[in-house]
Amino acid sequence: MKKYDYLIVGAGLYGAVFAQQAKETGKKVLVIDKRSNIGGNIYTEKIEGINVHKYGAHIFHTNNKEVWDYVNRFAEFNRFTNSPVANYKGELYSMPFNMYTFNKMWGVVTPEEASTKIDEQRREIKGEPQNLEEQAISLVGRDIYEKLVKGYTEKQWGRDCKELPAFIIKRLPVRLTFDNNYFNALYQGIPIGGYTKMIENMLEGIEVRLDTDYLENKAELDKLAEKVVYTGAIDAYFGYKLGYLEYRSVRFDTEVLDKPNFQGNAAVNYTDRETPWTRIIEHKWFEFGKGENGNDLPNTVISREYSSEWKPGDEPYYPVNDDKNNKLYEEYKALAEKEENIIFGGRLGEYKYYDMDVTVAQALKMSKNEL
Ligand SMILES: Cc1cc2nc3c(=O)[nH]c(=O)nc-3n(C[C@H](O)[C@H](O)[C@H](O)COP(=O)(O)OP(=O)(O)OC[C@H]3O[C@@H](n4cnc5c(N)ncnc54)[C@H](O)[C@@H]3O)c2cc1C
Repeated sequence: MKKYDYLIVGAGLYGAVFAQQAKETGKKVLVIDKRSNIGGNIYTEKIEGINVHKYGAHIFHTNNKEVWDYVNRFAEFNRFTNSPVANYKGELYSMPFNMYTFNKMWGVVTPEEASTKIDEQRREIKGEPQNLEEQAISLVGRDIYEKLVKGYTEKQWGRDCKELPAFIIKRLPVRLTFDNNYFNALYQGIPIGGYTKMIENMLEGIEVRLDTDYLENKAELDKLAEKVVYTGAIDAYFGYKLGYLEYRSVRFDTEVLDKPNFQGNAAVNYTDRETPWTRIIEHKWFEFGKGENGNDLPNTVISREYSSEWKPGDEPYYPVNDDKNNKLYEEYKALAEKEENIIFGGRLGEYKYYDMDVTVAQALKMSKNEL
């Protein structure tokens, strides 16, 4: 008999949900993480009384009632609604593209006028779009493309839109209403007190060891538990023996400012090509500028986001699910299926971009099958 039923590698969202479910069914669990903090990529750190989203802005949104009810057991969510603003050389536009955007762009007032204007501009592209530029113009017309799509996309991909394939942009939502709510989700919000607190609540009463790398101490750690749930990178588990799975990376440059309000919104996208960052997050607006006791906060914290090339050893952010990488993942998955007493899960273990709600749903599903 080993000391624990499950060793859970990774104290991120997936690991925390599985650990919570396992404990609830009476299993003995140990959670480890190589980082010095719990939460994985949803980790929030308090700076100047503000919950700073350390690994990128995270907004919880879902249509899945089971997932929503589940996370609400561990956090109270506020009424935050994601409504980013686009800044094109000092001109501000509402996002996603809606009647406010079209009014500012062309002075149109009615949905019919907006729709006529977009249709006029879309006609420029005849036949099948040959690249991302043509695809975007065929969806929203040249003006919106030039001011709100081109520069941002080129910064994100580090390449000219004419050199990017059309399929990257399948749709660009156009709303003929005055609705600035970015997500089409029934439930949306930010956990009051931060995501770290929510994960702490999930892990209540569970032993957690931080600064512990599974792969560096595998033989020793395997002796402790009957089974492992591994939420680290699948290629790292196998020593990258078939090659590296690629990621798109992003770099955050975080600054405390001695003023109460920098940009008046949680997210402002810089859609011109010249500004080197893609967007600026002002973290306090995820919680309406208020501190823990409902007090107004005198300072603010901002993070500039830069798209950057990923190289082995960098923090993996977005999996590149193209044919080449998906094929390599399938090869690793075949190896994983031959391993005994280990389950691979989460965004790194399954090499998939999962929003938080999908991560929770996947972890709950796995728990139901397993426990
Ligand atoms: C920039 C960005 C923004 C996002 N924004 C949103 C959003 O607004 N809304 C939304 O719904 N979703 C968003 N997501 C998705 C969200 O981050 C994921 O759904 C979620 O974090 C996945 O959780 P996870 O547990 O699978 O992975 P992770 O959070 O990566 O957790 C894995 C953990 O395993 C640990 N680990 C890895 N290897 C080892 C090892 N060898 N030994 C010990 N520990 C190890 C890591 O340190 C990490 O803590 C965003 C993602 C990114 C990258």
